[in-house]
Amino acid sequence: MMTSGTMQEWPLNVWRLIDHAAQNHGEREIVSLTCEGHEVRTDWRQVQGRAKQVAEALRKLGVKAGDRVGTLAWNTHRHIESWYGISGMGAVAHTINPRLFEEQIAYIANHAEDRVLFFDLTFVKLVEALAPKLKTIEHYVLLTDRAHMPADSSLKLICYEEMIGGEDADAAWTAMPETAPSGLCYTSGTTGNPKGVQYSHRANVLHSYGACMGDVLDIRSRAVVLPVVPMYHANAWGVPYAAAATGAKLVMCGPHFDAPTIASVIRKEEVTLTLAVPTIWLGMLQHLEATGADLKPLERVVIGGSAAPRSMIEAFEEKYGVDVCHAWGMTEMTPLGTIGSLSADALKLPREKQIDLKCKQGRGIFGVELKLVDDEGRELPRDGVAFGRLLVRGPWIVASYFKGDGGEILDKDGWFDTGDVATIDPGGYMQITDRSKDVIKSGGEWISSIEIENIAIGCPGVAEAAVIGVRHPKWDERPLLVVIRKEGSVVTAAEILEYLQGRIAKWWMPDAVEFVDSIPHTATGKIQKVALREQFAGYQLA
Ligand code: ADP
Repeated sequence: MMTSGTMQEWPLNVWRLIDHAAQNHGEREIVSLTCEGHEVRTDWRQVQGRAKQVAEALRKLGVKAGDRVGTLAWNTHRHIESWYGISGMGAVAHTINPRLFEEQIAYIANHAEDRVLFFDLTFVKLVEALAPKLKTIEHYVLLTDRAHMPADSSLKLICYEEMIGGEDADAAWTAMPETAPSGLCYTSGTTGNPKGVQYSHRANVLHSYGACMGDVLDIRSRAVVLPVVPMYHANAWGVPYAAAATGAKLVMCGPHFDAPTIASVIRKEEVTLTLAVPTIWLGMLQHLEATGADLKPLERVVIGGSAAPRSMIEAFEEKYGVDVCHAWGMTEMTPLGTIGSLSADALKLPREKQIDLKCKQGRGIFGVELKLVDDEGRELPRDGVAFGRLLVRGPWIVASYFKGDGGEILDKDGWFDTGDVATIDPGGYMQITDRSKDVIKSGGEWISSIEIENIAIGCPGVAEAAVIGVRHPKWDERPLLVVIRKEGSVVTAAEILEYLQGRIAKWWMPDAVEFVDSIPHTATGKIQKVALREQFAGYQLA
């Protein structure tokens, strides 16, 4: 007969994170730069109290458990309060990416059937323009105080500070099972409509335990964490939950993503850990180089969302004494999957070899299983050479998309296909070679566009690089390297190709180099390969 353990039922609800922070780290600071143009200093206890006020206010607006409440907002204390308040009263916090096209935002809000929309001052015009298309939103809450409310608006706006002002900061959370939904985030949908991933309380809490681990983000109460990555990009990689779990100080730059602001906030608030996509760090390194500034006392930068080029890792570590850690994951994975921290064996390797490992996306986090398969679904060896489709499984990985979009997405053994192509070496380090849609198929073999890009960007004079496959009569496809020159640089195609000689396999060598003024990016900072392929459709190789 099966018996069970004799331990307590303690549902893993996300509000337990903020309660823990308030009780044990109540005065630990939360610092935000706001849309109103000032800095707000608050703490975990106040954020908890105000989140409870949000919960009460939503109850009075008639929001019920399971309803979706949208947010169009930057990382600030008010966004975090709303986030915890929404899921703490049983509703679902739906973070919407404001960088999407208006049509996509309308589609997402309608698909999610958001009943209330919380938004920042930055987005008043956007929301006014969108409102006629938003079919389900009953209340518009502007995340500001009375003094900053617009004098007139085509919408009936609720002022956030007034809405929560009179509510009970000690109100009880709503009891709900740990499997209940707490958040919703849509993938950016490079092909077809965006699809929603509805996180459960349980997934978020387990992910927080995982994120805090020493080998993962290593978030402790003494840490000062600046998630540059926005909350609408896969929960700011789980940081606002993980920081509450440990009582870390949280620093947020609101609408500011420019290097001078981020650098000065890092120095002023003594940030020890910061996280963002590579494009943010490209700008930061250029800023540091131009001004001679540094980032002291920053200890660690976590880079994910796209692959970090070797030159970026080297610059942070060698010029600025900051440890770089690669992370890989996706919206469907809450989002963390692997982390690039060095193993005991790797720490004994020569520096060059350590950087080789840091260029990989890292080892699986406990809670995430990884597997490589070929096109027939046969498992591939973990030899660092064989590459194939990367599958994942675990308690914070999606089982189906919101409302069942896309149908059955797991195979019979419960594996989810990430759409990435990767290798895994005997030490467990996984390396993404491409999105499966972006690999270049040349003469029956695969060429990794990511690897060529990341080496090309190390060539002096190159500011940004993208590689796409273009038609070739004999080889099917050959790589075309698209480059943005650094300001003032006159670097030539021949010089770039010469730089690549010996750094990549001969048959990977791009057949041509084209210079452009800009490269299109998605709303989460990835190179938009689809748009780039369209731009160079019909390209004739010499
Ligand atoms: P989006 O909505 O922009 O698709 P995601 O963050 O969910 O947002 O994107 C996930 C994808 O981003 C992954 O499947 C992978 O292709 C890419 N990615 C994430 N992190 C990395 C990384 N460290 N290196 C390379 N690619 C990455």
